[in-house]
Amino acid sequence: MLDFIEAELEDLKSQNLYRTLRTISRSDGRLIDIDGKQYLNFCSNNYLGLSNHPKVIEAAQIACKEFGAGAGASRLISGNLSIHEDLEKKIAKFKGREAAMVFPTGYMANLGTISSLVDENDTVIIDRLNHTSIIDACRLSKAKLQVYPHKDMAALEKILKRSTKFKKRLIVTDSVFSMDGDIAPLPEIAQLAKKYDAITMIDEAHATGVLGKTGRGAEEHFGIEGQIDVIMGTLSKAVGSLGGFVAGSESLIDYLRNKARSFIYTTALPPASCAASIAALEIIENEPELIENLRMNSRLLGSETPIIPIIIGDLNKTMEISAKLFEKGILASGIRPPTVPKNECRIRLTVTALHTKEDIECLVSSLPEPIPAAAKPI
Ligand code: PMP
Repeated sequence: MLDFIEAELEDLKSQNLYRTLRTISRSDGRLIDIDGKQYLNFCSNNYLGLSNHPKVIEAAQIACKEFGAGAGASRLISGNLSIHEDLEKKIAKFKGREAAMVFPTGYMANLGTISSLVDENDTVIIDRLNHTSIIDACRLSKAKLQVYPHKDMAALEKILKRSTKFKKRLIVTDSVFSMDGDIAPLPEIAQLAKKYDAITMIDEAHATGVLGKTGRGAEEHFGIEGQIDVIMGTLSKAVGSLGGFVAGSESLIDYLRNKARSFIYTTALPPASCAASIAALEIIENEPELIENLRMNSRLLGSETPIIPIIIGDLNKTMEISAKLFEKGILASGIRPPTVPKNECRIRLTVTALHTKEDIECLVSSLPEPIPAAAKPI
């Protein structure tokens, strides 16, 4: 009966789409140890190195001692610890919103939020390159899914114009696109949403602690603070631990607490993760040089954000380049379907604040010639 599994795995292998796990014994956002050998890590989302910051680790240890390793229940039963509320207050303040709530992961934050905000009477309108968790959430919501070509504002307006029959219109976009590293045109999106009476939601997974002078995200980057209705993000990337969040009005958060199934029916975030995130957000506020370093390193690779895609196109060629870089001591993963469309395979590079100029020079000199424009040092 389970024959299809073997067949499916063989099929994936024959197409070079089979995925395996690497066993990592140590990693800090710059270096990574795999099978006893050290590599320069150019595919970490630990953008500011905060996952390994001594103050973050100490905060997690203290919280673990005080509250235990787990929260013991879901938030609405008996798992709502004071440290969850401390973290939520911290996030709300950081994002300039009345309130915030945390989910166990960013994936779950998208799932719970989008499926609570819209249903079969509504439409959800998204950028073609939005993250999988947004797409899965849209499907779960049963709202009519409408997709506009990447950052195409004329297409978005067209969709909005012909969507008046829906009860609600929700526009969702990554603010920094996870596989491309470019930034969504948020001022235009906010304007269109206003014009056509739509709700706006952004996924700040790769923008929190990254974009804007103080790392508060895309609204700060564009100087449009307060214009987006629903701010979603994750604590697992620049913030360095684990968890997803939504920040917004008091009533939005109250509504989600009552409606979001991935919040209600799951165990609360572990206390150590909450404490780690609180400490990390404090460091982001108090050590702006970390964001400055990250920005400098991104610029060294010709990019505005720390995500730099080298589009190769062909799948086998992409995996070959990734393997060659690995031989040279550089971890830079090849990204293939279904993560990206079939002919858009790429090496997705990420830099962190911890990389040195020499690390980046070593990466650039190891890249295949000609170096794609996106990864040319400036
Ligand atoms: N949104 C985006 C844009 C992401 O890149 C990711 C993580 N890859 C997520 C959401 C999910 O976040 P988490 O890893 O915290 O579940």
